Formats: sequence, structure tokens, C-alpha cells
Amino acid sequence: MKVAVFSTKSYDRQFLEPANANFGHELVFFEPQLNRDTAVLAAGFPAICAFINDQLDAPTLEILAAHGTRLLALRSAGFNHVDLPVAAELGLTTVRVPAYSPYAVAEHTVGLMLTLNRKFHRAYYRVREGDFSINGLMGFDLHDRTVGIVGTGKIGQVVGQILKGFGCHILGYDVYPNEDFKALGGKYVQLPELFAESDIITLHCPLTHETHYLIDESAIAQMKPGVMLINTSRGALVDTNAAIEGLKSRKIGYLGLDVYERESDLFFEDMSDEIIQDDEFERLLTFPNVIVTAHQAFFTSNALQNIAETTLSNISDFEQGRHCPNEISAKQKTKTPA
Ligand code: NAD
Repeated sequence: MKVAVFSTKSYDRQFLEPANANFGHELVFFEPQLNRDTAVLAAGFPAICAFINDQLDAPTLEILAAHGTRLLALRSAGFNHVDLPVAAELGLTTVRVPAYSPYAVAEHTVGLMLTLNRKFHRAYYRVREGDFSINGLMGFDLHDRTVGIVGTGKIGQVVGQILKGFGCHILGYDVYPNEDFKALGGKYVQLPELFAESDIITLHCPLTHETHYLIDESAIAQMKPGVMLINTSRGALVDTNAAIEGLKSRKIGYLGLDVYERESDLFFEDMSDEIIQDDEFERLLTFPNVIVTAHQAFFTSNALQNIAETTLSNISDFEQGRHCPNEISAKQKTKTPA
């Protein structure tokens, strides 16, 4: 099948091209993000392949459909960037990669916790400059601390497993509680209790209308003073402005972000020579107790291999008229993107 691959980076080609030897699709790589201005590049392509910061909104989808596209193959698990009801109306099928490596994201999440706690980011520069003092680098034992996991699906559960190994107490909140989380020793509570009892709160639920700004001023007010907040899920789960106020008052003691609500204007590009216009983002970077990584939690060789293979297999299923287990279901389609 002829596929227009958008937002292509060298690492996408590195995994998609060899994996495609088993599938034989005609992959054409485009570096630009997919949006209403670039959608016309896909004219004549029955399939497009998109990543998380591509904007699959109504105008983009209308252009794609008008030029013959029938399949949206997402190289991601999340699909909050796709207007699914409009895609369905236009007769576009949407497939995704529901699980490529929960370990990649969970391990990065715990990495952010350890870095914020033990201040590796500051120690690294200190030692390289010959400053061997340790003042200001004091952390706390993770052992015996309480961690609240919001969203106890695939990634949330792996985070829980890892932190159990550290001797943490694990609280969870999920709209669909599951037995596996309980089996690993997690205890389900309602959100107010999770906010009030947790030393560390980590977000692993999808971005929907219900979870948009889940962490806002009132949620932060319910948390322990000096709480550590980690978001490796989707940026708009956190109201950035409320988080900045929480940092200024020291209610939030540590903030680790792999995602940011306006990341599509920034992440995945080298902007080191640019003047960043997003003042809230720049304010975040001024805090010594904030770490931001640019949506790299998924970025392991294992994950990229799985993303490439599943994406190409999804495209083959569609091309050959087979049932694709990774097609976004009618039930999921009723959820509009946040
Ligand atoms: P999953 O579907 O296995 O788990 C998500 C869990 O969230 C489910 O148990 C679901 O019931 C729960 N949930 C849904 N709505 C909720 C709500 N309102 N409140 C609480 N819980 C709710 O998904 P996953 O594979 O664990 O991925 C979780 C999220 O991680 C994805 O939605 C995606 O946004 C994000 N993600 C980030 C990266 C990255 O590189 N940073 C990579 C992959 C996934």
C-alpha cells in the first residue's frame, strides 16, 4: 500500500524501512508535521502514517479524504490528536499501536522520580566543573513512601511493579479498576484520598474531556506540601499555570514532565537557535526542581521496533480487508478528543 509517513525523523526510517521488508508497502517519508497546511502532500496516498503531534483535526481530515486517503495509521497508542467522529463520518479507518512497550514509559517515569529526588541533573554538572560539594543535593528514601498512580493500565501497572521493588506503598485511581493492580499490592482509592496521601503522584491515564486539566488549582490544593508530581502521559492533564503557582508556593516540591500541553509547537525539533515564545514553558525551566524531557519516554529501540512492525501489520490488515485488532473501536470513536 502507498503510505505517506508524516513527521518522519531519521529514527523512524531506521526502524520502518527494515521492518517493511516483510510487508512490502510503498513508504514515502515526509518530514513536516501533518496539519491542514501539509495534508495536500498526501494526495493520491490511500494511507497516511501519523505521530502524536500531527494534527488530525476536521479540516486536515477533510483534505485527506477529498484526496483519496482511507486509512489513518497512528504510530502511537494515544489518539487524542485525532477527531475520531469526523474521521468516522468521512469513512476514514483509524488504527493505532495500543501497546509497544509499557516498560519504556514506566522506566522513564521512575527515572524522572530518581533524578528529581537525588538531583542527578545538578550533580552531573557540579562534578564536571570540579565542585565535589554535596550541599543542596539531599534526597529522601523512596522506601516506605506512598506513590499515587492515576490510571492503572499497562504503563501504570509497570510503574507500580517497579516501585514495589523500592518498598513504596502504592495507591491507585482508575475509572476501571483491575485485578492485576490489586495483585501487585496496589490499593484503589478515590482521587481526593490519592491526592491527600501520596508523596509522589504519577499520571498514566489518557487525555479525554474528563481528564483535561485533571491536575488544576483545586487538585494541587488537596496534595501534601512538597509533593512530587510526574506526568509522562499527555500534557493537557496538567494545567501548567496552576503547576507554576504550586511551584512558586512550594506546594509542589518536584515536577517531572515528559509531556507539555503546548508541546506540538516545540517538541521533536532542534530549537536551540530560536527565541521560544511560550512564556509558561520558559518559566517552568527556571525552577531548579523541575525536569522536562521532550516526549522521549517511549523512545527505546524495543518500542520503535514494535511500533514499526505493528503499524505495518495494521496497514496490511486494512489493505487485505482483514479484521484489524488495533482499529479504534466504535465505542472509542464516540469520545471526542480533548
Ligand atoms: P492503558 O489504556 O493501558 O491505561 C490507561 C488507563 O487509564 C486505563 O486503565 C483506563 O481505565 C484509565 N483511565 C481512563 N480514563 C481515566 C480517568 N478519567 N481517570 C483515571 N483513569 C482513567 O494505556 P497505557 O498504555 O498505560 O498508556 C497510558 C497513557 O500513557 C496513554 O494514554 C498515553 O497518553 C501515554 N503515553 C505516553 C508516552 C510517552 O512517550 N510519554 C508513550 C505511550 C503512552
